[in-house]
Amino acid sequence: MTAWVGPAIDAVYVAAIVVFILGLRAMSSPATARRGIVYAGIAMLAAVGATLATPHLSNFALIALGIVVGGGAGFYWARVVKMTAMPQMVAVFNGMGGGAAAAIGAVELLGSLTSGATASLSAAGAVIGSISIAGSTIAFLKLQGWMPQKPIVVPARQVVNFAVLAVAIGFGGVAFWTARDAYLLPFFLLLLLYGVLFTLPIGGADMPVVISLFNALTGVAVGLDGFALVSGPLGDAGYAMVIAGVLVGAAGSLLTALMARAMNRSIGNVFFGAYGATEEAGGPVAGSMKPIEIADAAVMMEYATEVIVAPGYGMAVAQAQGKVKELADALEAKGVTVKFAIHPVAGRMPGHMNVLLAEAGVAYDKLFDRDEIDAEFAHADVALVIGANDVVNPAARRPGSALYGMPILDVDRAKNVLVVKRGQGKGFSGLENELFYQENTRMVYGDAQQVVTALVSAIKKGPA
Ligand code: NDP
Repeated sequence: MTAWVGPAIDAVYVAAIVVFILGLRAMSSPATARRGIVYAGIAMLAAVGATLATPHLSNFALIALGIVVGGGAGFYWARVVKMTAMPQMVAVFNGMGGGAAAAIGAVELLGSLTSGATASLSAAGAVIGSISIAGSTIAFLKLQGWMPQKPIVVPARQVVNFAVLAVAIGFGGVAFWTARDAYLLPFFLLLLLYGVLFTLPIGGADMPVVISLFNALTGVAVGLDGFALVSGPLGDAGYAMVIAGVLVGAAGSLLTALMARAMNRSIGNVFFGAYGATEEAGGPVAGSMKPIEIADAAVMMEYATEVIVAPGYGMAVAQAQGKVKELADALEAKGVTVKFAIHPVAGRMPGHMNVLLAEAGVAYDKLFDRDEIDAEFAHADVALVIGANDVVNPAARRPGSALYGMPILDVDRAKNVLVVKRGQGKGFSGLENELFYQENTRMVYGDAQQVVTALVSAIKKGPA
């Protein structure tokens, strides 16, 4: 081998790692997130290129087939996926990462059972990767609506789950001590079963937190596999995997903790509490929902000093973000101050509203996090709720409600509340929302895109 090839490959790995870190840094703000994604893509391409240039690599046809099939499917799906289906796509992609980590762990384990040197690292990677792919698959099925979103709770599930995990690890131990491959099959099957059992009792509303956890676990599994690879012929690729795995593990863990905090729940409660399985589902609310005509809603906003917009999943479904930006511009042209209140779990993925509104050209300084804007609702003349439901449901303040503990946007404290939605549809939690029945709330029924378009025309035309 030419003497410079090894150091050159190392240099590419180091450069890729630096660019990964810069990319991750850039992803922390919506203003630079796109750049961050491009950086990460370039770094990944460089790392793959360096690995392919590693001397003594064989099986190029198989590798090319994997890249074409995997890359092609990923590219196609990422282009056609709807924004609202993004969480399940993340679940699948993450599951693939977990599966790949489990497969690398399995191959390493088969090769290292007798030596034992790296068997424990490979086994740990295999354990975590297997749980991650099985759990991510259940998360995908729940979010896609191909299995019930509700928690599926088996009796004595903690004991059953623990027993399955213990027996799986027992098989792994026996495989290790006897150096016999045959025990690896029940080892992997039981780990997959554990991943399924772990995820079944978690409700659909908690799935983003779960996916984030599996993402962190996948990172850890990849890192452990990297450690196991370091002593082999692909040693340098192992270092790159360790660093990439640690980055994903750290970022995923932080996101998991932040999301749990946004829902005001402990991580233990999310994963072991079977959210939504036992708590009160909420009964019918007294009173009635009071509709308002478009023209009257437009006048109410035109004469306001401040309007705070609270967008939610319905705005995403209707793809109304562009029209919402036009509405804000039209109101501002009439001297009204317009702000956007962003709930961390509005929509169907973390940061969903930020992404949509940024895409529509709404300035970042008009977007406010819940804790920045909540106190302001009491002074706002109008809170305009567009396709949001759970994130503005005051039931979340009441102990016993299935939503209890989730911090909400305090839109109900505004002087007037206008709610844009199509009809009586419930939110993701399936609970009634007493906000819609409040004295100061008026409903503007219709698809968000059509309603907001009509509001813009009415405001531009001015009061009759
Ligand atoms: P919700 O899902 O609670 O409510 C959405 C509302 O939008 C419905 O009440 C629906 O009423 C209305 N709607 C649907 N389509 C349209 C349309 N075309 N035009 C106008 N309105 C429409 O949304 P929120 O954003 O308030 O809450 C998000 C929920 O999703 C939370 O429970 C959260 O925990 C959960 N979740 C969040 C994830 C995240 O990471 N952000 C991921 C997964 C779940 P109607 O049918 O009457 O129109």
